[in-house]
Amino acid sequence: MAAKEAELAAQLRQKLNQWGREYYVLDQPSVEDAVYDQTYRQLQELEAKNPAVITPDSPTQRVGGQILAGFEKVTHETPMLSLGDVFSKAELQEFIERLHKNVGEQVPFNCELKIDGLAISLTYEDGVFVKGSTRGNGTIGEDITQNLKTINAIPLRLSEPVSVEVRGECYMPKSSFVKLNEAREEQGLAVFANPRNAAAGSLRQLNSKVTAARNLSTFIYYLMEPEKFGVTSQSQALQQMRKWGFKTNTDSRLATSMEEVDQYIDDYQDSRADLAYEIDGIVLKADPFTVQQDLGNTVKVPRWAIAYKFPPDEQETVLREIEWTV
Ligand code: NAD
Repeated sequence: MAAKEAELAAQLRQKLNQWGREYYVLDQPSVEDAVYDQTYRQLQELEAKNPAVITPDSPTQRVGGQILAGFEKVTHETPMLSLGDVFSKAELQEFIERLHKNVGEQVPFNCELKIDGLAISLTYEDGVFVKGSTRGNGTIGEDITQNLKTINAIPLRLSEPVSVEVRGECYMPKSSFVKLNEAREEQGLAVFANPRNAAAGSLRQLNSKVTAARNLSTFIYYLMEPEKFGVTSQSQALQQMRKWGFKTNTDSRLATSMEEVDQYIDDYQDSRADLAYEIDGIVLKADPFTVQQDLGNTVKVPRWAIAYKFPPDEQETVLREIEWTV
């Protein structure tokens, strides 16, 4: 392995791990997401060309951040993964074509909005909410049951006495974010960089009263063990979870061609400013669960889904020059 590549990989890892800590652990990012994404891409490409430079602490090999002290730990029997991402429609088309080729036939995709919040897991026993946690590092999360109980969108009892785990996104509506930052400014407190960080900071509070005052909400998008309920696709799962009483996002849509996917992206890229919550892209999921099971996951992301990230808002984001080059 060339020393130059190893040195560069170490530099990129060090930067990304520092930014990751600020973002996931402290809820105080010091760089824009686009800067993080660009640097992450650079490391990913370097590692793809030089697999010998990959180390276990590389952010490409693991999910999310560390667990905050003060919370009980929860082990996720099925890891909570991240999502692979693409930044252009050409890359998205490549992903779709590759998936069709691997499956051997055309596959319908469920198109969903990519809610800019943080992933949570909710467990119900006989229809009663018993445990809620963060994604944490994907395998171990924080037990935030008491805080989640303060969120009105999370049902404490379902419409049927099912024992089920669901996963989704906890977010702060834009209006609550603005009010919260105004109040913090008046009190001379540090403001949150964006609604995602405000939601993460609000959810990981040791005092549930603070969480209750923050007006958080959720969209649930993932049903565990769907076969137990005779549910065979992602689009059906969303309907089933809605019937049980979960808040799901109704702006999802099935697409069977790249044109339909394109249309979905254009519709929401144009109207995202009008939504009451932040989205940072769209998520495409192979709809049939048989396809999802056949394709499986890497250590970090499912092979049957992908996030298309919207280009950063140029007025807000000044991309910093990434100086390292091989
Ligand atoms: P991610 O946020 O890019 O995508 C995965 C997550 O999307 C899932 O875990 C889930 O929580 C969420 N999601 C939202 N809507 C969804 C839906 N409909 N279906 C499924 N999942 C949905 O990945 P990540 O691993 O959480 O974070 C990586 C991203 O975080 C980076 O791309 C970067 O933009 C940002 N980040 C920024 C900094 C910084 O310093 N600014 C640091 C670290 C990470």
